Amino acid sequence: MAENDDIRQRIRTIPDFPKPGIMFRDITTLLLDAEGLRLAVERMAAAVDGPVDLVAGIEARGFLFGAALAVKLGAGMLLVRKDGKLPGATIAEDYALEYGTDRIAIHADALAPGARVLLVDDLIATGGTARAAVRLLRKAGAHVTQASFVVDLPELGGADALRGDGIGVHALVA
Ligand code: IMP
Repeated sequence: MAENDDIRQRIRTIPDFPKPGIMFRDITTLLLDAEGLRLAVERMAAAVDGPVDLVAGIEARGFLFGAALAVKLGAGMLLVRKDGKLPGATIAEDYALEYGTDRIAIHADALAPGARVLLVDDLIATGGTARAAVRLLRKAGAHVTQASFVVDLPELGGADALRGDGIGVHALVA
């Protein structure tokens, strides 16, 4: 069995979601499976390099894996949310979509300068979201050098672009 085939088998692909031509990787089936969820979180945690003060999870599925990892690593959990969802004062970062732009935000007082932050999401595709999160976290003073994903879609180049930003990238399944 190839590495992480037991994780890969628990993720399904749904064609034409959210629009025709997209092959959507659906990790809800992995979440539903107690053993799969445990293996995913344990292996993501094992790949983390050095101590981490905070795990930054990207809304929404990054919250799930991020919080589980934070507990395992003895770190706090920082929410990277879609703009307009956080109640306190925020700082934000824009990023390009296929059509238009989107904006993510964190609480302005969420982290102390120099805090060691691990970025987490379920999936990296073009890397637009994760790269914006790195810019945002660095703008806030974070020391962010590594990111962890369940799935990488390498043909879309996001992980390589993130590595070019000085981030060590780990994904369970590519
Ligand atoms: P990117 O910004 O192009 O790298 O897209 C990554 C973001 O979109 C992540 O927050 C993912 O949760 C979401 N995403 C994109 N494609 C998929 C998919 O096939 N399955 C699940 N999430 C996806």
